Amino acid sequence: MTKCVVCGEPIFSSRKGVKYCNQNCTQKAYDRKRAASTKKSESDDAVNHDASKVVKEFNLNNWDKATILAEEYKKDIQFIQRSLEACRLAEVPESYFIDRYLKGDKSIPLNEEVNVISLKLQKEVYRQR
Ligand SMILES: [Zn+2]
Repeated sequence: MTKCVVCGEPIFSSRKGVKYCNQNCTQKAYDRKRAASTKKSESDDAVNHDASKVVKEFNLNNWDKATILAEEYKKDIQFIQRSLEACRLAEVPESYFIDRYLKGDKSIPLNEEVNVISLKLQKEVYRQR
């Protein structure tokens, strides 16, 4: 029996690689990851808000790949960047996003965690504008 890595509740899912029992726990796990990855930048420069720094970093990390994919599949580059970053944070291979959303293979099961993180990234980007 797989257990939720956040609250330890058993997970009733036949899907492989499920780590969280529900969206709340997925969200919590994501918040923790985000908090851990931004801890350093906060101490470096308290004025520089951590969220914008993270978004800048993820833009740089994924820019080249996202540009290529956006041209190839005629999709919004920010959507692609966000999704690639969501895959990275969820520890899901990028091929999940590319196959399911760019190539349109809907036989690939939806990954809740990637979805939740992607939505959260979207909100962060909008908040900066
Ligand atoms: Zn849980």
